[in-house]
Amino acid sequence: DYCYGGYHPIQVGDVFNKRYKVLSKLGWGYFSTVWLCIDLRSGRHVAVKVLKSGAGFTQAGQDELTLLRCVTRNPLKGRIVQLLDEFKIAGVNGIHICLVLELLGPDLRCWQVCFGNPGLSLTCVKHVITQVLEGLEYLHRHCKIIHTDIKPENILLCLTPQSSSHPPGGAIQTYSSVIKTTMLQDPVIVYYFYAEAAGKPGNLDNITVKIADLGSSCWVYKHFCQEIQTRQYRSLEVLLGSEYGPPADIWSVACLVSLQTFRFVGLTISIILDHLAHIIELLGMIPVSVALSGKYSYEYFNHKGDLRRIAILRPWGLYEVLVEKYDFLLREASLFSDFLLQMLDFLPERRTTAAQCLKHPWLKL
Ligand code: ATP
Ligand code: MG
Ligand code: MG
Repeated sequence: DYCYGGYHPIQVGDVFNKRYKVLSKLGWGYFSTVWLCIDLRSGRHVAVKVLKSGAGFTQAGQDELTLLRCVTRNPLKGRIVQLLDEFKIAGVNGIHICLVLELLGPDLRCWQVCFGNPGLSLTCVKHVITQVLEGLEYLHRHCKIIHTDIKPENILLCLTPQSSSHPPGGAIQTYSSVIKTTMLQDPVIVYYFYAEAAGKPGNLDNITVKIADLGSSCWVYKHFCQEIQTRQYRSLEVLLGSEYGPPADIWSVACLVSLQTFRFVGLTISIILDHLAHIIELLGMIPVSVALSGKYSYEYFNHKGDLRRIAILRPWGLYEVLVEKYDFLLREASLFSDFLLQMLDFLPERRTTAAQCLKHPWLKL
């Protein structure tokens, strides 16, 4: 990928735009490499996302910039990663768009690695999900943006907890030394880091998170692409190739909740036909009109709305699964399944909105 049109070769010590000095690598993705830098003008640590230079990547970068600028202008922007600056660099592999972003910490996927099964405490999950929903409420309602890629890798921990007396610099210092010296995936380091960032060693319940990576996002009224979402978090309408909108993000949140709470893989199967079979087993029959509404419908369903090639389904409803398999108490199971089922309505227009989800008693329990 380090060729013409690809990544820009970068080394620790490089200075971008006479201003951002590279300290270490934070991560990378299909579109970019991301670097921890110090802003020589302000002394502040930032993340610089350097996009690949090919035409498609430059277009994607321009779209990401336009979306981020819209988010950054709004006073309610708190739950989404903030764009601080932007510039271009001309390198051996072409011209690269660079996004200067506020520095955030490791992502939710580290938690899965770090905390294993059954994952984080329910209190902590509720806390995180509330913040994700607040972020989406803002994106959907105020910015008219669909994120389209809600998944653990794109939910990042904040380094400066909003409700803490802990000096914000502390966590950033810890973070920059941690990523310089060791693998972030090391469970002990990640645990230490979270405790540090949360301002209360041993208590992870008051951490704050933000939604990152608007690189695949689009406008509610202007889509850039039809194939959205990472497979395991993909909503029914996208699987089927029907129209999608903000409700597609809500479906992904439901998958995120179930994955975070109990490694519940019922909805996160990678083969589409099996994925659809699991959706039906867990959520009930898909009405024929819905099943046959998409561009790809006939690849998976026959004209009667029955799944092709899968003869036997073993229905096991969400509530029963919670009680029978995961030993939930009845009251918790009914509230929790109610919360999830509203987010997994087959009809996008009937699915709960982020604002409605935020009022659900499960989050307050
Ligand atoms: P993808 O393949 O997921 O589309 P991408 O090229 O669009 O990737 P991002 O997901 O934005 O890139 O960033 C890649 C990685 O860099 C993230 O998973 C995260 O580890 C790290 N990262 C991104 N932004 C930040 C930030 N603001 N602060 C800290 N780390 C970040
Ligand atoms: Mg990403
Ligand atoms: Mg991306």
